[in-house]
Amino acid sequence: MQVSNAMIASMERVRIFKQMHAFIGDLSHSLGLERIGPWLTERIFWRANTADKVVALSFDDGPHERYTPALLRYLEESHVPATFFMIGRQVRKNPDIAREVANGPHEIGNHTFTHPRLPMLGDVQVTRELAETHDIIRDVTGREPVHMRPPMGLFTKRVVNLTEKAGYRTVVGDVYPRDPHKPGTHKIVRRVLGRVQPGSLIILHDGGNTPGVDRSQTVDGVKEIVPRLQDKGYRFVTLSELVRSGNEM
Ligand SMILES: [Zn+2]
Repeated sequence: MQVSNAMIASMERVRIFKQMHAFIGDLSHSLGLERIGPWLTERIFWRANTADKVVALSFDDGPHERYTPALLRYLEESHVPATFFMIGRQVRKNPDIAREVANGPHEIGNHTFTHPRLPMLGDVQVTRELAETHDIIRDVTGREPVHMRPPMGLFTKRVVNLTEKAGYRTVVGDVYPRDPHKPGTHKIVRRVLGRVQPGSLIILHDGGNTPGVDRSQTVDGVKEIVPRLQDKGYRFVTLSELVRSGNEM
């Protein structure tokens, strides 16, 4: 097949576009938004302002057929509750696992239906992403989530307005070890332990928006993070308990 200059130019545009998207996706994290967050806005929940040694684990992008059950088994053995920010289409794919989460002491949050960059969508689309996810979580698990974490931590004032209009609080977190980049279990553990403080909300990933994701480092990391924080006197709570535990930041 003859490859024309026009085709090369168009392939190049697609490549640049994809790179740009990957960069924007990472931007909020590379800026350390989860750490400078408290100064940005009080409408977003970053962590609880408390001296009590409470901490919450949260897992995004599931439910996943392999890693979510692995986490659930460990959390059950350890009597540790967590919060799972589910993607609507992953719930549709793995309803039994979503129900398994709901059968435990865990909380379920809304992480949109298709995991888009919300600031790039129109109002109707943003609202639909949240509503469709709310509906499928309710239909499958009987739970009605109240917290929404925007994919990739990307939001604008407009997105926060629409989220509140849908009855949700926008949530980010203050400890993010960038586990999807697979830095190694040791680094995931070290980053979390180095940043956790009373009232922290830890952001991790039990699933993925693309097929074939590998979250084994996250699962292994959790098995070290939980006992190490418990040794330091921390108690694990759900996000809603964390929110209630203090004046917010
Ligand atoms: Zn996500």
